[in-house]
Amino acid sequence: MRSAEGVKYTRSMSVPKKMKAWVLGDPDELKLIVKDVPVPGRAEALVRIDAVAICATDLEVISYGTPAMFEGGPPFNKNFTPGHEYMGTIAALGPGVDEFEIGDRVTVEIHAGCGQCKRCRMGMYTSCHNYGLNYGDRDKGHRANGFTTNGGFAEYAVNNINTMIKVPDQMSDAEATLVVTAGTSMYGLTELGGLVAGESVVVIGPGPIGLLAVAVAKSLGASPVVLIGTRENRNMIGRELGADATVDARNEDVMARVKEIVGPKGADYVLDCAGSETTVNQAVHMTNRGGKVCLAAFPKTPVTFDLGYLAVNNIYLYGIRGEGKSATHRAMTFMAEKRFDATKVHTHTFPMQDLPDALRHARERIDDAIKVVVSMHDTNAGAVAAE
Ligand SMILES: [Zn+2]
Ligand SMILES: [Zn+2]
Repeated sequence: MRSAEGVKYTRSMSVPKKMKAWVLGDPDELKLIVKDVPVPGRAEALVRIDAVAICATDLEVISYGTPAMFEGGPPFNKNFTPGHEYMGTIAALGPGVDEFEIGDRVTVEIHAGCGQCKRCRMGMYTSCHNYGLNYGDRDKGHRANGFTTNGGFAEYAVNNINTMIKVPDQMSDAEATLVVTAGTSMYGLTELGGLVAGESVVVIGPGPIGLLAVAVAKSLGASPVVLIGTRENRNMIGRELGADATVDARNEDVMARVKEIVGPKGADYVLDCAGSETTVNQAVHMTNRGGKVCLAAFPKTPVTFDLGYLAVNNIYLYGIRGEGKSATHRAMTFMAEKRFDATKVHTHTFPMQDLPDALRHARERIDDAIKVVVSMHDTNAGAVAAE
């Protein structure tokens, strides 16, 4: 395996030949095995993983396979390592790489598109036409770590240089894992046009992407920023992250309250981060004429919604996948400047060997888990976040 010519290693960051890695067996079966440390190719670096956050999409991949597609099919029983919201330290550089140095702390975004298809050329690399075509003789160079290539629930992973972002010294490992989530929120607002300063933004669904969408919208100057959620403790975090008002979807009339806050004509921008039939319809009906709706979560089954209302009111509908157009790089700029404190969504930390327990906390929302982080080196990591 370690044959790649031109790969740079240094003595100060010695890289072993083998590493521990969690791999997916059958659905819902994770095994900790020993496998080869990967070797970076052109425009790639080897990252020693220091921390990984767990995402709802990891849970979906582990149970159902999708949206992962590994070696042309479902990711089961292929020694595939999931995990995509990770950060770490550069341990080796592929041939010709001078954009980073060994020892740099980096956080990563997930998708390195093929770089040659129409969408990649537009910066929409999360919608690459060559998704998953990175094996055998159909090697288009596409990578989506934890989906179509091996991810971060391991000691090392390879990343394309375009997907790596330097982490400021003062930012903790755990906070750095949250940048890609903030990047997804940023991408949603980018697709809506980004000019939200002085305009009203409503975010539906206080999951990690929704909460950080509140923070990013506020940082971009939106006003007022409104968060709608069913759990008061999450709405409270939303207010700490910049929401001017929150609506308790369980106990309040959502439509009436939103119009009370943003005005009777409705919101300029609505980001649906819940993705249910109810919320999609609420999003459409609470949007001002000529306003814009972005679906950042998607309903798992076909839904009925008021398309006529949308058309007759000239409302624009957008969908996003992941975090394209370098949104993650831009989100890091905000976080480095401390425009908002993303660590408010980080609730739990576990050591790497306890990954199954960490996943269970995320899946069952034990102790109100929002973002659960797995730390590779801090073996003292307790069940509760230190920050
Ligand atoms: Zn994710
Ligand atoms: Zn592409």
